Amino acid sequence: MGKKKGLLERIDAGEAVIHASGYLFEMERRGYLQAGGYVPEVVLEHPEVVEQLTREFARCGADVLLAFTYYGHREKMRLVGKEDLLEPLNREALKIAKKVGDEFPDKLVAGNICNTNIYDPADDEGPVRAIFEEQIGWIKEAGVDLIVGETFGHIGEAKIAAEIAQKAGVPIVIGTVLHGKKNNFRDSERFFVDDLKDLKDSGADVVGLNCHMGPATMLPHLREITEVIRDGRVAGFPVAYRTTPTQPSFGSMRDRDLCCPERLPVEGISFPVALDPFTVTRYEMADFAAKANAVGAKYLGICCGGAPHHVRAMAEALGRKTEASKYSPDMTKHAFYGTDESLKDYNQQYKSQF
Ligand SMILES: [Zn+2]
Repeated sequence: MGKKKGLLERIDAGEAVIHASGYLFEMERRGYLQAGGYVPEVVLEHPEVVEQLTREFARCGADVLLAFTYYGHREKMRLVGKEDLLEPLNREALKIAKKVGDEFPDKLVAGNICNTNIYDPADDEGPVRAIFEEQIGWIKEAGVDLIVGETFGHIGEAKIAAEIAQKAGVPIVIGTVLHGKKNNFRDSERFFVDDLKDLKDSGADVVGLNCHMGPATMLPHLREITEVIRDGRVAGFPVAYRTTPTQPSFGSMRDRDLCCPERLPVEGISFPVALDPFTVTRYEMADFAAKANAVGAKYLGICCGGAPHHVRAMAEALGRKTEASKYSPDMTKHAFYGTDESLKDYNQQYKSQF
């Protein structure tokens, strides 16, 4: 992988590392993936679309290029009756990320694993372990710079994932989720930071939170984590939605201005495909990036609902210039709001009528 700086080298030098995910939601919105099952078949059906989104994230400043294998594991493939595509899908997704990685030699290519939805703390962990073993096997063969595990609501499952991921011999980032209003994982009564500390001590290199919460909800929790884990190896990549103290998770958001609750897939619940009015602006993500970086969380990014423009704003808030920054907003030549001397007063004055 050449001489590029590795994940931990960057973080330990005090640099933030920008992560971009949210592929499931973005592909669904573009018409390449079905909400509900959320299986990334697009990897095989339209690899060029996945490749292009990965490239867009890279141009906008993502440091980590993620293989799109989220929910591409054996349990999800079984659920849609396509277990035969499991291995080709995982291999193709890794190939796509590596291909874009070749175009951007300083970027880090990441393998991806996630919650299996069949982990039961009271049950034998056998099938869960097998799911991670086979995915990590393909990741290891592909050769990546790091592995990112996402959206673990059970600390027990996160620990199994981290333990198996260690076999690949690359740094491991584990993102966990706090559901709703609780401060503990589904299988634990402890304060979640204590469990994250254990997870880190047991071999995950970077630990933190991803998904479910929007940036404003996640930031105070990142503060709680960085009070205990002080080496910067803390991850936060929230959904790009405006969650609130009363609606802290995107899974339960209700839109008070909703026109037609009966049209939604789950009546009255905006999750997952009617969250649009809650989408955060790029400036909210920029603010999150600056503040999270300042409290000492160095692995930052976006999850569901996020898009390349959010990533660019985050990168710029951290003082970077991205390939796409040449197109970052500049209103000086705008007909109504601009300042260019050649612009017509006639229009500039008219904006008071807006
Ligand atoms: Zn997400």
